[in-house]
This record gives sequence, C-alpha cells and structure tokens, in this order.
Amino acid sequence: MSAVSEGADKRLVIAIDGPAGAGKSTIASRLARTLGYVNLESGAMYRALALKAIEGDVGFDDEDALVKLAEKSRIQLEPTLGGNRVLLDGHEVSQRIRELDVTDAASKVSVHPRVRQWMVEHQRALGQQGGVIMEGRDIGTKVFPDADLKIFLDADAAVRGDRRYRQQPQTAEIKPESVVAELRERDRRDRERAASPLVPAADAVVIDSTKLGIDEVLDRIGHLIAEKRAQGGRP
Ligand code: C5P
Repeated sequence: MSAVSEGADKRLVIAIDGPAGAGKSTIASRLARTLGYVNLESGAMYRALALKAIEGDVGFDDEDALVKLAEKSRIQLEPTLGGNRVLLDGHEVSQRIRELDVTDAASKVSVHPRVRQWMVEHQRALGQQGGVIMEGRDIGTKVFPDADLKIFLDADAAVRGDRRYRQQPQTAEIKPESVVAELRERDRRDRERAASPLVPAADAVVIDSTKLGIDEVLDRIGHLIAEKRAQGGRP
C-alpha cells in the first residue's frame, strides 16, 4: 500500500534522480524546506567514500578494498537549509568532497555492485521514517522502489554544464568546455554501468528542465504532490 493512501498527512518518500547538473540538489532542498522534510544527498555518501579512498591510497577499481573501507567508515549526512553537512568518521568534509578530484573518484567508485549494495542499505535506513526527499541516480529504481513520488530530472548536457560552471568559483584554469566534458563523462559512466545504471524508473515522472527555471520545476512537482494526495495513488 502506498504511504499516501494511508492518509493525506502521511509523510512521503520522494525520490529525485537524474544526471549531474540537472538541478536535483537545488530542487530537493527547496522542496524539503517547503514540506518540512529532510533532504538527503545520496551522492555525498559516494563522495565521502571516494575521499577516504584517496586519503587511504585505495585504488578506485579495487572493489574488495573499497567495500572494506566502506565497512569501517562512518558517513553521516546532516540536512541543513543550505544542503547536506557531511561528516566522515566524525570530521566535516562538506566542502572537500565537492572538489574535482573527489567528484571524479566518486563517479569511479560508484560503479562497483558491492559498494552500491553497502550504500543502498545505509540509504534505506535513513529513509525509513518517511518525510524524506532523497536525490541521486538510483533512488527510484533501487533504494526506494516503492517511493510515493519519483521524479527524474533531466536537461541538455550543454545546459547542465553551463549551470555547473556558473555555480563554481570561476578561475582561468577552469574552462566551460572542460566542465561540460567532465559532466558528459560522469553521465556516461552512470548510464553504462552494469549495476543500477542511471535510468528513469518505469513509474517516474520525467521533467526536462532545459527550458524551465527552478520555480517552474517546483511548481510542477508541487502539483504532482497535490494530485497524489488527492487521488491517494500514483500521479
Ligand atoms: O550527485 P553527485 O554528483 O554528488 O554524485 C557523485 C557521484 O556519485 C555521481 O557522479 C555518481 O556516479 C554517483 N552516484 C551514484 N548513485 C547515487 C548518487 C550518486 O552512483 N545514488
């Protein structure tokens, strides 16, 4: 039974998936604020493990070693109004994990099925109580296949790259073309991996934000939530 059909005020589980730079984090945190839900960035967990692999000199293709590393890691996500505060073994790594070397490593460590299994178990535990918006690549397909609402947020790669470029501090070394190229490469890895590739769940609502602003996307999702509550079923 869907959580919604159990009562209109039931706290939902909302999955937001999509490629890098589609606006998932911005949308998820704005939505969480409006609904009074928590916003959990599953990618931050892959990033934290990737950072630990970098620091421990563990190869990104060594699945056994990565799983062992994950098992002795404590990765905590603390939702705040401005996104997730991320702690790795008790130390704040929120800024560090956004740097390029970690971004690239996270994309590589996340291809391994057993690394993903470890992540999925921990992510499911975080969402048990409902009232959660979790964003990532496999939330609707794997982490919460019974989520009350699944959104797949997409946009043209060039537009996503441009948004990403504008979000970061602009330096002479970082060229817009290289941001787009890096993003395409991460997308390719996410879409082509054998374990939980990036695809919309069969029952996801796909929103293409190429020509939409944040408020328009939020408006659409707001309508989907209202519709769902009114019908007591999937939109
Ligand atoms: O979302 P974010 O860019 O922070 O994610 C970092 C990397 O972690 C992504 O490039 C993707 O490869 C991986 N990831 C994943 N599954 C998720 C979330 C992130 O494979 N649910």
